[in-house]
Amino acid sequence: MTQTVLVINSGSSSIKYQLVDPETGEAIAKGLVERIGDSLGNIKHAHGDEVTTEELPIPDHEIGMREVLRLFDTKGPALDEAGIVAVGHRIVQGGKYFDGPALVTDEVRDLIEQLCPMAPLHNPAHLKGIDVARELMPDVPHVAVFDTAFFQQLPDKTATYALNAEVAEKYAVRRYGAHGTSHQFVSQEVAKRLGRDDLKQIVMHLGNGASVSAVLNGKPIDTSMGLTPLEGLMMGTRTGDIDPAVVFHLARQGNLSIDEIDHIFNKESGMKGLTGESDMRSVWAFIRDGSEPELQHKARVAMDIYVNRLLKYVGSYAAELGGLDVMSFTAGIGENDSGVRRELAEALAPFGVKIDVEKNELRSSEPLVISAPDSKVLLLVFPTNEELAIARQTLSII
Ligand code: ADP
Repeated sequence: MTQTVLVINSGSSSIKYQLVDPETGEAIAKGLVERIGDSLGNIKHAHGDEVTTEELPIPDHEIGMREVLRLFDTKGPALDEAGIVAVGHRIVQGGKYFDGPALVTDEVRDLIEQLCPMAPLHNPAHLKGIDVARELMPDVPHVAVFDTAFFQQLPDKTATYALNAEVAEKYAVRRYGAHGTSHQFVSQEVAKRLGRDDLKQIVMHLGNGASVSAVLNGKPIDTSMGLTPLEGLMMGTRTGDIDPAVVFHLARQGNLSIDEIDHIFNKESGMKGLTGESDMRSVWAFIRDGSEPELQHKARVAMDIYVNRLLKYVGSYAAELGGLDVMSFTAGIGENDSGVRRELAEALAPFGVKIDVEKNELRSSEPLVISAPDSKVLLLVFPTNEELAIARQTLSII
């Protein structure tokens, strides 16, 4: 009989869920509860071709989760008939405690709670999801799958900051990385499809949040996100790498509080901070549309910064890997933005990277080779599937 896993991603005001068949990868049903805590919330539940949308007050996560279970009952599939064997919870921060998925026990729950200061926006919201799901579905095992787990294998030289060792130890400051489930999934699937485990890979997870990793023979050796997801690439609303002294400067010269600086760096910078829009489609539209030359110029500069940051990471990671066999693009921008891929590949032409410009424009839900046959590096568009990865990791430990 089919075994399925209900994957839950509980956010501060939302619950995203998917019932997955880990063997086939099929998403049997999926949905999203939004605006929890607002006067009116919203639920979308899709089962096969049937999509149900409802607006109703959803004061808290418990009621949100009850509504999800009601929709499974009324709109299908009935969870027990669909062979549910476990619930997999996506957890952003697993700190130093978790280097793989963990069965949720009271101890595991407490450790996730202890890590809340490291992920103040995420872990508390995940805990709400875990608590209500355990209460409402007590008969199946619950598993926590951590976004940081893959990067617990980073070598000391890339996991450690050159920060005073006592301070780093006292406050658990190190590179934890993020999007690990996606980097692990893509790098493993690429190796599987190429039938090789001796690969020098770069994985670019380019979504609204964006990170890049270097994977050598299946193990991560570096990644761009750090203690938090702020470090590394330029993102939709985040600065990415920036001189930390900018913080001191803004605090001293601008009298800005730490919370204000945190907000500017995480929510008001990146593409949004430079062009007014965080979505790459809008930024490309500004570049194409010359009716506002000043905006067009700003957008072009922002895109140049974006691509240049990618280029710097590819250069340094290729050096760390001692070469490069495969580079995979994934997530919203990686999978859809042919312009970013082309500009990056063109900048890498002196190193023997050759993109097939026509293939680069194709759209596919399947992995796609977009490099020319004589390219020194294989370029792939490789759709990520974090829900499937979470479902498989969940199944692997129950
Ligand atoms: P998240 O980090 O929120 O999971 P996604 O991986 O869904 O993000 O990526 C969302 C981003 O992908 C959007 O903000 C947008 O910049 C980009 N994107 C989505 N579709 C396209 C497209 N067709 N062309 C260019 N960029 C796109």
